[in-house]
Amino acid sequence: MAPLPKKKSSRKRKKDRASHFGIKNVPLTKCKQPSCGAYIVPHAVCPECGMYKERQVLDI
Ligand SMILES: [Zn+2]
Repeated sequence: MAPLPKKKSSRKRKKDRASHFGIKNVPLTKCKQPSCGAYIVPHAVCPECGMYKERQVLDI
């Protein structure tokens, strides 16, 4: 037998399982640069100093 779900999960079931879907207020982290220290989205380029992983990515 193929491992298929017997019943289609209802919309509520789906939503209950996906409780972490559509998170808007992501916990921010501080910029690693000592001279900056701005609150930034994790794993993203800092818009203040343009640094990502101790590397200049943006020209500011
Ligand atoms: Zn920064």
